[in-house]
Amino acid sequence: MKKRTGTDRTVTRNWRPVTQALRGGTWRSEHGETSEALFLTSGYTYDDAATVAARFAGEAEGMTYSRLQNPTVAMLEERIALLEGAEACRAQASGMAAMTAALLCQLSAGDHVVAGRAAFGSCRWLVDSLCPRFGIESTTIDAADDAAWEAAIRPNTKVFFFETPANPTLDVVDIAQVCALAKAHGIVTVVDNAFASPALQRPMEFGADVVAYSATKLMDGQGRVLAGAVCGSSQFIDEVLLPFQRNTGPTLSPFNAWVVLKGLETLDLRARRQSENALALGRFVEGRVPRVLHPGLPSHPRHELAMRQMEACGPIFAFDVGDRDRAFAILDALQLVDISNNIGDARSLMCHPASTTHAGLTAETRAEMGVTEGLLRINVGLEDIEDLREDLDRAIAAAGM
Ligand SMILES: *Cc1c(COP(=O)(O)O)cnc(C)c1O
Repeated sequence: MKKRTGTDRTVTRNWRPVTQALRGGTWRSEHGETSEALFLTSGYTYDDAATVAARFAGEAEGMTYSRLQNPTVAMLEERIALLEGAEACRAQASGMAAMTAALLCQLSAGDHVVAGRAAFGSCRWLVDSLCPRFGIESTTIDAADDAAWEAAIRPNTKVFFFETPANPTLDVVDIAQVCALAKAHGIVTVVDNAFASPALQRPMEFGADVVAYSATKLMDGQGRVLAGAVCGSSQFIDEVLLPFQRNTGPTLSPFNAWVVLKGLETLDLRARRQSENALALGRFVEGRVPRVLHPGLPSHPRHELAMRQMEACGPIFAFDVGDRDRAFAILDALQLVDISNNIGDARSLMCHPASTTHAGLTAETRAEMGVTEGLLRINVGLEDIEDLREDLDRAIAAAGM
């Protein structure tokens, strides 16, 4: 496995994100294959006993077991790190494996975590239910309220955890401001960047310490595999994350890593075109229903901030149609857009968060997060925008609106 002869890391490191998404981390076998090789192997063999002993002792480089390293997974990790502008990255079996590892690897009983209350349902469960079971205190706040972060800090606060834009209400967090506050207090920031992907937003450029991904979403982008990733400094990844990950085993399968490598090749194109389609469709829906939540629309309370920290507004928006009956009537009238709770897919998908992605939370938590009974969330895909407009127009009319 080697890079092209003459490859100079000081040159390749400086490639811009779009180039990194296509070429970063490519290692070639002796066959010189164009596309990355898929190494479906759990173990490795060695020429002699001394070689394996040196690898286990950490004195020689090389693979030992695919829970610890795999060449295809390593290519994905290097590519995501280069794309993110991070020193290091480790792939995970799913987005939730990434979030769990990013939090638990650094938290202990007696620590305190502050998290944004608008979040992916399982991320809320980690903070609200899992952390307290292990003696880790947690507080959830309105992450779009800058003052709320400072007010929530306690002497034992170890981590700030938030997503932006947040699922499903598209709340936007001021990454630079919250990360600066955290730094001043010695707090580690963990940002869930699944909604934007590194093509549209790179939180480390605004001071984030750790960026965690569901690569299931825009990175795969074609609805095929579950995958996740955690990016951070080499010190964080090697000394804090790796001991946790290697021994608990949320390892990504090489096959899924290979699929995500293929997805990353078109990430920039998809993310930008889907953002354009989402903005056009959001404008259309805004003329038909009372409330549309999308950071790309001037009506979003943090539109300008979102456009400062994001390169484009992303493929997802939400809109409120008043009650569950109307929301279900719209979903049932769709002819093109699928009823599906996934996001980041190249196909347009719509869901009713209160009865699906956020059904596991209590009614009070949903109300506090703004997940109302009339809220619908759409992931806008790569279809022709006119077909999407016609489909939504017909569906909204079918709900009597
Ligand atoms: C989907 C998602 C997750 C979880 O990712 P999986 O790959 O489904 O485990 C976490 N955070 C956000 C914001 C998500 O959208």
